[in-house]
Amino acid sequence: MAKANGGSAPILVSGGGIGGLAAAYALARAGFAVRLFEQSSEFREVGAGIQLGPNIFRVLEKIGLKDAVLADAHRPPGMEMRDALSGKLVTRIPLGPEFFERFGQPYAVTHRADIHATFLKACQGSNLITLETSRRVDGFEDRGEAVTVTLENGERVEGRALIGCDGMWSTIRERIVGDGKPRVSGHIAYRAVLKRDDVPADLWRPDVVLWAGPRTHFVHYPLRRGELYNLVAVFHSDRYEEGWNAEGSTELLWQHFKGQRPEVLRMLERIETWRMWVLCDREPVKDWSKGRVTLLGDAAHPMLQYLAQGACMATEDAVVLAEKASATPNDLPAAFKAYQQERYLRTGRVQIMARVYGDFYHARGVTAELRDIALSGRTPQQSYDGVAWLYGGP
Ligand SMILES: Cc1cc2nc3c(=O)[nH]c(=O)nc-3n(C[C@H](O)[C@H](O)[C@H](O)COP(=O)(O)OP(=O)(O)OC[C@H]3O[C@@H](n4cnc5c(N)ncnc54)[C@H](O)[C@@H]3O)c2cc1C
Repeated sequence: MAKANGGSAPILVSGGGIGGLAAAYALARAGFAVRLFEQSSEFREVGAGIQLGPNIFRVLEKIGLKDAVLADAHRPPGMEMRDALSGKLVTRIPLGPEFFERFGQPYAVTHRADIHATFLKACQGSNLITLETSRRVDGFEDRGEAVTVTLENGERVEGRALIGCDGMWSTIRERIVGDGKPRVSGHIAYRAVLKRDDVPADLWRPDVVLWAGPRTHFVHYPLRRGELYNLVAVFHSDRYEEGWNAEGSTELLWQHFKGQRPEVLRMLERIETWRMWVLCDREPVKDWSKGRVTLLGDAAHPMLQYLAQGACMATEDAVVLAEKASATPNDLPAAFKAYQQERYLRTGRVQIMARVYGDFYHARGVTAELRDIALSGRTPQQSYDGVAWLYGGP
């Protein structure tokens, strides 16, 4: 049996999404006992794809999960941006050997459920991790030498520290940062997954393809070794009600995409039921730890998805947090400060740049023309230079 690092009281983790499971596993690998509480009755992720930049593989390699994540993924040969009105190719970034040579890690796309299941299996295989479902964390008390968490049923659980991995609407964040509700961006994402056979053969592409339209964009790519196909349609909307994984109105979607290329419309037509997300983020903050409590992933730095990095950043957080905790196992408040110090500028930059990329994808008129001119002349190496700050990390 592995021995717990720095005593037997567990580190408590609130939330069993990608960030919470990655944190639990990285900490257990570093020898810490972990007790994780997930509010849902089972561990599960929504049915949609995510892109994984080379930066996540760098940290996955450190915790021994890179091969398992890649085993279920798809490796796109390239990433394309096309004009959704003219169909013109704006730019293509090769993601094959040249990309690997530059960043030392691959680019991949995967089903969220697959990467989540890989993290879950890894956690289940560790005798230092206890996973508990139907357990909502409602509050906590930091008593200096320990933290006591209150669960929904009134039960109180003691731990050495608490990590809030409870997502965009984090309860723990309210107490640590206290910056109210997330910012509603005015952008809505519709997501759906098709079986490969349901994608018209002439439209199936192995690449990540982004169709940039006026105040819209549409992305598609294969998932799960090519067996599935992921579709994400994003548009601006003044509807400000909160929605997360709710059913989306097809009529609203058509209002925003009408007039776009047949390749776009034919693909959108294939979907009967869309899931809808009202996209939100927050202003970056520099201080998300207090005493024995810290935040991780969307709870710490929720971002728009335009750089495809929220899950990547949560996983980077997890590995950095475990490294800092290992460095000072008997002083976790110091480890948490060191962790946020190493993370806040990088994650803040992704939060800010994701907004910029969103504006870029959704440009109209002259701005769109200027964007296309700026991007179309770039060599692959110039494209890589533009994302080296992100893909070259952490
Ligand atoms: C449209 C869209 C596309 C995206 N595409 C990408 C992409 O291509 N690449 C990428 O890297 N990222 C992408 N992301 C972002 C990514 O999905 C998130 O950043 C990531 O899932 C955050 O993980 P998390 O564990 O921090 O939070 P979450 O996934 O939100 O998990 C939080 C968990 O905590 C639980 N919980 C909440 N409150 C409590 C409580 N009080 N007690 C106990 N449990 C609680 C929840 O049930 C949930 O399981 C995308 C997001 C969207 C919306």
